[in-house]
Amino acid sequence: MSKIAVIGGGFSGLYLSSLIGDPLIVFEEHKHIGLPEHCTGLISYSTFKSLKLPLNLIEGKYYVIRVYFNDFMRNEVEIHVSEPILRVNRVGVEEYLYYRAIDKGARVVLGQRVRKLNPKKLIVNDKRYDLVVLSEGIIRYFSRRLGLIGKVKPVYSLQLRLKGEFYDKDNVLEVYVTSPTPDFFSWIVPLGDTGDIIIGVAATEKNSLNKRLRLFKKILEKKGKVKVYKELKYFGGVISVGPLGKLGYGKILGIGDAVGLNKPLSGGGIYPITYAGKVLSKIILGYVNGVISDPLKEYVQALKPLILELKYSHKLALAIRYRYYTLPKTISRLLSLMNVKLVIRNFEYDRHSSLVTHVFGKLGFVKT
Ligand SMILES: Cc1cc2nc3c(=O)[nH]c(=O)nc-3n(C[C@H](O)[C@H](O)[C@H](O)COP(=O)(O)OP(=O)(O)OC[C@H]3O[C@@H](n4cnc5c(N)ncnc54)[C@H](O)[C@@H]3O)c2cc1C
Repeated sequence: MSKIAVIGGGFSGLYLSSLIGDPLIVFEEHKHIGLPEHCTGLISYSTFKSLKLPLNLIEGKYYVIRVYFNDFMRNEVEIHVSEPILRVNRVGVEEYLYYRAIDKGARVVLGQRVRKLNPKKLIVNDKRYDLVVLSEGIIRYFSRRLGLIGKVKPVYSLQLRLKGEFYDKDNVLEVYVTSPTPDFFSWIVPLGDTGDIIIGVAATEKNSLNKRLRLFKKILEKKGKVKVYKELKYFGGVISVGPLGKLGYGKILGIGDAVGLNKPLSGGGIYPITYAGKVLSKIILGYVNGVISDPLKEYVQALKPLILELKYSHKLALAIRYRYYTLPKTISRLLSLMNVKLVIRNFEYDRHSSLVTHVFGKLGFVKT
């Protein structure tokens, strides 16, 4: 019987284990599944369906993303998505996947950090395996040493979950490329009927995150966007915005933030991991059953459509963010001089390249 080790029991490691079960053994350094919390939990409806998650994990549903490019907060770009975006309870998702993995016979060892990995002999800590899955997330301790991922400028994020009121009753998300976060963006995610709201900031500078979040909150309150009753909790982490790295080394297969499987414009990882997880689970089962001898080759081959999408959208993201969003800011300034706002329809949330490939012909301009 094959022995397969999974390094990291975050979303990637748990999702893969929930698909395969036995003979996977997952090592997770934290003692509690899903913690510490870091993710905003926004996914498309199709990703939610594809993950086969229970409905009670949904905490919000959105049809429109409003993007603001100046501190006056005129509504300049409105993005209508081709299917709803959902906010899911991210800790709940990982707990759910954990129990599904256990039910299928996977072993999840909590509170155990993998300290040693011998890539040639496939020794993890002190035991030998037939295959290793690297799902260590943004830590990238082993993926860097194996040369799977290069040095990239990280994006740091801090979020605040609060009790309060959001000014709009419609199902919208708001994104701000404004003064607190000029090199990335900030956001508001209202959590439906709970009366909770998540506000977050992200920037390439780590030290000033607290200050940026306080400033963002102050601006939102001043502009009447959000009324804050009570601060509930702060959370966050490092966001991976690509570029995609190599997917493995020999019999070590990488998935998730460890290898840069993220949508480069937002850093969203759940969709690409779900896609890659399904592919990888079939390949691992093929390997276990003796049908596949070179799992890495098969993995890279089968992921080609996703790889192309992520590479293309990485270039797109660089162009959009170039010199503090010069291009979109110029366009939005011109439009606001003409008293119109740009409306983009049918945006595919999971395929950011659809901003270019699909959007032409679906653009609209609305008098403001
Ligand atoms: C602030 C923020 C907001 C985000 N919002 C969204 C969003 O709205 N939508 C979306 O799709 N994506 C979002 N993402 C990205 C998404 O959360 C990640 O892409 C996803 O969690 C990556 O999963 P992973 O399993 O690769 O990594 P992780 O979830 O980080 O899991 C890796 C796990 O490996 C463990 N580990 C690491 N090294 C070892 C070791 N040596 N031994 C044992 N265990 C180890 C870690 O403890 C961790 O639990 C966001 C990310 C951040 C930081």
